[in-house]
Amino acid sequence: MTAELYVIGAGPGDPELITVKASRILQQAKVVLYDNLANKELLSLTPADCENVYVGKHPYGSYTPQERILELIKEYADKYGQVIRLKGGDPFIFGRGFEEILFARQHGMKTHYIPGITSMQAVGFEDIPLTHRALSEGIWVVTGTKKDGFLSDDLELALQSKATVVIYMGMKKIHEIAAAYVKTGNGDMPAAIVQHASLPHKKVAVGRAADLPEIAAKNQLTHPAIIIIGKVVSVGTA
Ligand code: SAH
Repeated sequence: MTAELYVIGAGPGDPELITVKASRILQQAKVVLYDNLANKELLSLTPADCENVYVGKHPYGSYTPQERILELIKEYADKYGQVIRLKGGDPFIFGRGFEEILFARQHGMKTHYIPGITSMQAVGFEDIPLTHRALSEGIWVVTGTKKDGFLSDDLELALQSKATVVIYMGMKKIHEIAAAYVKTGNGDMPAAIVQHASLPHKKVAVGRAADLPEIAAKNQLTHPAIIIIGKVVSVGTA
């Protein structure tokens, strides 16, 4: 029998924001390898004898190397013939989910991708639409933390457009992000930080791009948080 890997999106946090399909697959799971940002409550959907294995990566703490995750996929596939990989948000958005799919295929496994609601969509709960007919014709979605540790060049490009800018994994680079806006004369652009979006303990703060570091410090906002910069941030209060 061909072993199967299901790479499934857990959604932004609220466990009810998982898809019906992902929920059905969890209910039939034999082993689930789950991430730091996937809501643990979702594990209650799995059968009693399912092995739930934490393989999280925390930017300020414990860390399961990606190579180890791949090894575990192989080991559990041999053991159970089926592995569920539960990842926060959408597995293909800053999630390395596709690397796991390719690895599994190289080892003869059949693979499945089940999308998830990505965390930036949960800023909608804060009255921040990501696009707006009059204010923003598009969205730049960039990572604040590149593999080499530098700020993404795409941010410099994004700054020049009227589009909404969404930054994942940006909290460690918040000073550089604010400086880039100030340098290009865009320091007054409305900006928001949303931590734990969609969850009961969420925290939100709004201000100007230039003040992002102060906003984060004053409101004690830290990982996991999404930074949104653009006119859509203030449309709800206009
Ligand atoms: N695949 C995930 C992103 C993983 S990268 C997705 O589609 O959402 C990790 C980053 O996601 C964090 O640094 C943070 O920027 C963002 N993130 C994930 N969950 C979040 C949440 N509930 N609230 C705010 N940001 C979140």
